[in-house]
Amino acid sequence: MIKPLIKGLYVTISHFFNPFKVVTVQYPDEKLTISPRFRGLHEHLRDNGDKEKCVACGLCAKACPSDCIRIEGIEDENGVRKASVYEIEMLRCIFCGFCEEACPVDAIHLSNEYEIAATKLDFHLYSKERLLVPKRNS
Ligand code: SF4
Ligand code: SF4
Repeated sequence: MIKPLIKGLYVTISHFFNPFKVVTVQYPDEKLTISPRFRGLHEHLRDNGDKEKCVACGLCAKACPSDCIRIEGIEDENGVRKASVYEIEMLRCIFCGFCEEACPVDAIHLSNEYEIAATKLDFHLYSKERLLVPKRNS
């Protein structure tokens, strides 16, 4: 019973006498390295021809446990299906990554971006245009 107490005291005292071991960083000037497994803001990917990969199949919305994805699909002039509306209510998102796993064409990806705090509610409703990665050729 006394052993955990001594162990705890040892940790406290060792940190107390080692004030130069800094464990905080001066965010936002300094940033910690993010784990490759981190799941942050979604991004919609493009294929090699810079076309949107998403075919508006709706599987990501079905897989989403928070029910925060809204999709409407259309066919373009070549009969290719794409999303006319793709929205994610980021305040409801729990960043589980199920949408990424469910996507059959690897169109959606959870990036390392975590600086998405905002004071306005409507900022957290992300449209397809905000989620799409920029064109490579532009
Ligand atoms: S990460 Fe999870 S909660 Fe967020 S949109 Fe994807 S499936 Fe839904
Ligand atoms: S992101 Fe993927 S799963 Fe979601 S609608 Fe588009 S193609 Fe389907």
